Parts: sequence; C-alpha cells; structure tokens
Amino acid sequence: MANTAETVGDKALARWLCEHASGLDAEEFSAAIDELVNARSGIHLEAMIRRVLDGEPVQYVMGRWAFRYLDLMVDQRVLIPRPETELLVEIVLHHVGDSKGPFTMADLGTGSGAIGLSLLHELPLNSATVWMTDASTDAIDVARANAAGIGRPAVGARFEVGSWWDALPSEIAGLFDVVVSNPPYIAHEDAEVEQSVNKWEPHSALFAGADGLDDIRVITSGAAQWLRSGGLLVTEMGYTQASAVLDLFTSAGLKNVTVHKDLAGHDRFVSGVKT
Ligand code: GLN
Repeated sequence: MANTAETVGDKALARWLCEHASGLDAEEFSAAIDELVNARSGIHLEAMIRRVLDGEPVQYVMGRWAFRYLDLMVDQRVLIPRPETELLVEIVLHHVGDSKGPFTMADLGTGSGAIGLSLLHELPLNSATVWMTDASTDAIDVARANAAGIGRPAVGARFEVGSWWDALPSEIAGLFDVVVSNPPYIAHEDAEVEQSVNKWEPHSALFAGADGLDDIRVITSGAAQWLRSGGLLVTEMGYTQASAVLDLFTSAGLKNVTVHKDLAGHDRFVSGVKT
C-alpha cells in the first residue's frame, strides 16, 4: 500500500512539504520556524500543495522517499518503494550471514534501485556486484541517478535494460549467489488496487497478466540456469499468492522453499535455494 496523503496524516504531510520547500531538514526547520519565508520557498510550496490536492502521491511530489538507510529519488517513472519491500533486503542479508563474499547478485526489475542499492550499501564495501535490470529505460535512468547518490558502495552496481533474465549477459549464467526481485504481481482485473496507485504509478511495474503471476513464472523458470549451486532466489508477491508461488519455486527445482511474512503478518515473499 502506498503511503499517500490519507495515510500519513495531514499534519505530518504539511510539515514535510514545508521542510522540503524550505530546503531544510527537520532539525534546521524547527530552529528556523520563526524566520520569514522567502518567495522561492513559497512558490515551491504552493506548487507542491497543488499537486497533493490533485491526488498525486506525496513521494512523487517531493521527488524522494526513504527506503531502509537510503534517501532515494523517485518520480512517476518508477514504483514508490514500499516499506514491506525493505524485508526482501533483510532476507538476502540473512541468507548471506557472515560470509564475506565476493557475491554476484541480481535485482531483477529494479525500478528506483531500492533493493539492489540497499544491498550494496549494507553489505561490506567491495564485497558484491549487483546487476540491476529493468525493462524500462526510464527506470534504469532513475536507478543510475540513485546509484550516484550513494557514493562508494555504488562501484559494485551494474545496470542493464531488458526483460528479466534476457537483460543479463549470458557469460554470467550459473554464477549468481542471490537473485532478488519485487516484480509486478497484481492481476489485471484486481479490484483491490488503491485508486492512487492505479492512477499515478507505472502499470508496467504493477500488473502481470490475468492472475498476476506472469512475471514470477518467468523468473522462477530461469532460476536454475542462472543461480549457482547454493544460490538464493527470493521474490515479493501478493498476499494471496503464496501457494501458487510456492508451486512455481518447487516446479523450478528449488529447495528449502519458504514463505516469509511481511510486518503486517501477510504472506509476502517466497525464497528457495538451488541445490
Ligand atoms: N505492493 C504493491 C501494491 O500493492 C504492488 C507492487 C508490485 O506489484 N510489485 O501496490
């Protein structure tokens, strides 16, 4: 679910917009609260308010959003990073454990780069190469911009435009320690999709065929070819899809297939290992 104006509360939202318009962080803003507003900030604030009143998600209006330790640039070219997706990174870090690498990883359908860049940021410096792919050139542009914002950990970032496995160079087939993805998984006719999500976010990042599983099918079917022995595949999914996705992982020959819950207690991720 998107953290839209309705869910964050009007007061917090107003405060964020004022901070953002003033160019100050929360602490600086409090210290400057009695100072006069300059004209440029006033114009910026009014423009943002107009967009929020028009229903645009606040993340796009501010052009940035937090994901784990990163402050990511986001706009309508990419899905807004969701808090539940932060746990995908946790599952990967748990799998890696104390191992020092070097790791070869992929974040398929990276969007803003949230998952792949978090991995690079949180794993030991220089320990991982993370291939971030997306079928959308626009999304890869956003991910690259975000990579530039994280500094040295981004040396391990590789970007490829293309659909799922097709985006990757064939020489690295069979070498992946980890493949992670938050693919589109909403069924085309799903009536539960929030109106603001449907209206503002890129449909190519949300919808995946009649049952929402078209992309997860492609991802699971290539896993055995691309992972090394002991390598992990983990994907996000819709909360009603656990048994179907479990079957897809199992049919792809993966072992230790496990369903993981999100913080709301919903089935949200499936992982499996190539033996
Ligand atoms: N979790 C998102 C939503 O329900 C969907 C994201 C996705 O399809 N990967 O809005």
